[in-house]
Amino acid sequence: MSKMDKWIDLRSDTVTQPSEAMRAAMAGAEVGDDVYGDDPSVNRLQDYAADLFGFEAGLFAPSGTQTNLIALMTHCGRGDEYLVGQEAHTYKYEGGGAAVLGSIQPQPIVNQPDGSIALADIEAYIKPDDMHFARTRLLALENTIGGRVLGQDYIAAATALAHARGLATHLDGARIANAAVKQGLSLRAAVAGFDTVSVCLSKGLGAPVGSVLLGPKAFIEQGKRWRKMLGGGMRQAGVIAAAAQYALEHNVQRLAEDHDNAAALARGLAAIEQLNVGTPQTNIFWMDIPAAACEPLRQALARERIRASIGPKTRLVTHLDVSAADVARTVEVFQAFFANWQA
Ligand SMILES: *Cc1c(COP(=O)(O)O)cnc(C)c1O
Repeated sequence: MSKMDKWIDLRSDTVTQPSEAMRAAMAGAEVGDDVYGDDPSVNRLQDYAADLFGFEAGLFAPSGTQTNLIALMTHCGRGDEYLVGQEAHTYKYEGGGAAVLGSIQPQPIVNQPDGSIALADIEAYIKPDDMHFARTRLLALENTIGGRVLGQDYIAAATALAHARGLATHLDGARIANAAVKQGLSLRAAVAGFDTVSVCLSKGLGAPVGSVLLGPKAFIEQGKRWRKMLGGGMRQAGVIAAAAQYALEHNVQRLAEDHDNAAALARGLAAIEQLNVGTPQTNIFWMDIPAAACEPLRQALARERIRASIGPKTRLVTHLDVSAADVARTVEVFQAFFANWQA
């Protein structure tokens, strides 16, 4: 595709294309049958990710929905319950998999404006040991959540509270690398306090497919059984694991560029009086657009080869295929549209 044909795609950080170097790593990957444990590229990725994040073992799976579900099904059995935010991906955006496929009752709890779950709420929702109640087994947090970074003090307090009350802790760390880079933390420091973590490799890190679940060795062994049952046992998966390996080796620190680009985009759009623009903490932010402007704006953007999930509440996302020049161009197109738009 030539540069001229390129679209600026601000819908999600899942839309990135594998780079030439990443494709070369995929083409050269040594492979084997991973259900037999024979794929050297998958094994290398799992070991590399486990070491990078400070866990004993890792499990590669096709999606973050699946690594989260494997974690929930391994932590919780039938009739158990997990505490989770109302806005959390595992609760709201994974088709109810924990309940449907895991027989696990979610106990959703309101998220505070900063994305956290109040400690007092966690405490209050842990059920006593009584036959009337599901057994509360697990606290699941998400970081980043809607682009917001959970504070490390909060995470330390929430995971300590859960552990003190006998609960396990799981992090949906789909974008944990964004949180780590934003705070200047190592990946290990960013996941401290969690028993298990799910990390997406196909979001800002830029791999085409895959997520990795990290945890203790025995937990990952058990998780492997659920992965097989859920249809996630892949064969010569080294071709995609090699891309994920490349992403972890090359695309973590550069997430800072995505954060800078999101900040620049938000600043540029905030100068347009018809828009009410949030302040990004990482690579995702939201803005309010007058409802009547949405359809004509969508058309104006499409004419300029810009894709965005335009609505009264619009989410904009930067990633490794959005450059500073793309941001400047996007701001110009918004400015031109709103200079001429009447309610
Ligand atoms: C994307 C995402 C997931 C997993 O999504 P898949 O599309 O199944 O890989 C999980 N949690 C969060 C917060 C996400 O953004």
